[in-house]
Amino acid sequence: MARVIVDDLTKEYNSPGGSILAVDELNLEIDDGEFVVFVGPSGCGKSTTLRCIAGLETVTDGTLHFGDEDVTDQKPKERNIAMVFQNYALYPHMTSRENMAFGLKMSTDLSKDVIDERVEDTAEMMGIKELLADKPKALSGGQQQRVALGRAIVRDPEVFLMDEPLSNLDAKLRAQMRTELQQLQSELDVTTVYVTHDQTEAMTMGDRIVVLNDGKLQQVGTPLECYHRPANRFVAGFLGSPPMNFLEVDVDLESGTLSNSAFSLPIPESAVDDVSGSKLTLGIRPEHVSLVDAVETHAEPDHLIETEVTVTEPMGDITNVYLDVGGESLTVTSDDRLGVRGGDTVHIHVPAAKIHLFDAESGEAIKHSDEPIDSTRIAEASGHAETA
Ligand code: ADP
Repeated sequence: MARVIVDDLTKEYNSPGGSILAVDELNLEIDDGEFVVFVGPSGCGKSTTLRCIAGLETVTDGTLHFGDEDVTDQKPKERNIAMVFQNYALYPHMTSRENMAFGLKMSTDLSKDVIDERVEDTAEMMGIKELLADKPKALSGGQQQRVALGRAIVRDPEVFLMDEPLSNLDAKLRAQMRTELQQLQSELDVTTVYVTHDQTEAMTMGDRIVVLNDGKLQQVGTPLECYHRPANRFVAGFLGSPPMNFLEVDVDLESGTLSNSAFSLPIPESAVDDVSGSKLTLGIRPEHVSLVDAVETHAEPDHLIETEVTVTEPMGDITNVYLDVGGESLTVTSDDRLGVRGGDTVHIHVPAAKIHLFDAESGEAIKHSDEPIDSTRIAEASGHAETA
């Protein structure tokens, strides 16, 4: 097992259209045994970073260390890693047993008996013993991915690198494999870097997530830390479904208000000292806004806004209500059975404590919601959490 240290990693591709900066001075420390998820939109540099860690790409600049060892210029086979890809990449003419044994045969001096034993033990642990004699075409997608995982695990690597390993599976199986993979990773305690564009996988699987955009690190933190204390508007908008609502507001320090054409809200007390300039972006999560019945007796009357319902979307357990606030769209999720429908005028409550504020130009966070997050995990994470 190993810590993985990424120092100022930069990767530029030369393409006919000019150079592409896929990864831009990325700094990151992944702890021994940690499960870290790289997440971000397509093209943000997740796979390139992973491939650099694997040694499948040469780096343009920067260094990579596994523990104290500088692996920057090492070939993939010199690095003690195992990779799992989206498309399984099993050899079609080999049985599961042969697929799992192949890497060990090629890259170690282990005897056939030892290899057999390791394959058997791993297959047992993963519940795929009955598949050992089958070739890939006889297996379902989920079974193939289990064999591919088994092939990675049997090598007993220092670092697992996984690139969207579950994206070829249907939704139900993906959810099941998500849980299995987490359990497996925690049992094996092997440093794992997992790439996904799926924020649900990122939120549910990682000890910490690394949010990337446009080749640049946006935030490193526990899932809840990134969700409730997003470093900037990008992270705030990327994590969460439906996503955080953003409203552009004018700041009036004299009257102490944030306003647009549809409302005027007091600047939250906790943010008064940090607010400057004339424009900000107000962020509020759909689950933090509520529809209000008793307007007159409400505890926070300054924080009510009159809006019109555009459309409602009953999801079964919750209902998404889409509203028009001065020409901007705002979503509310509610677990109440709501009797509202398109065209209704309703009052919503935007609690001061749940408001996020972002610099209107840079998108940097100025104020977060006061939503509690697990403090022990934050304390652990803050040792290496970086924001950019
Ligand atoms: P992600 O995994 O987040 O979807 P990638 O790391 O695959 O993103 O890609 C990052 C950027 O680098 C994208 O603009 C992509 O088009 C570009 N890129 C990736 N691989 C190559 C390559 N082999 N040659 C040229 N450009 C590439």
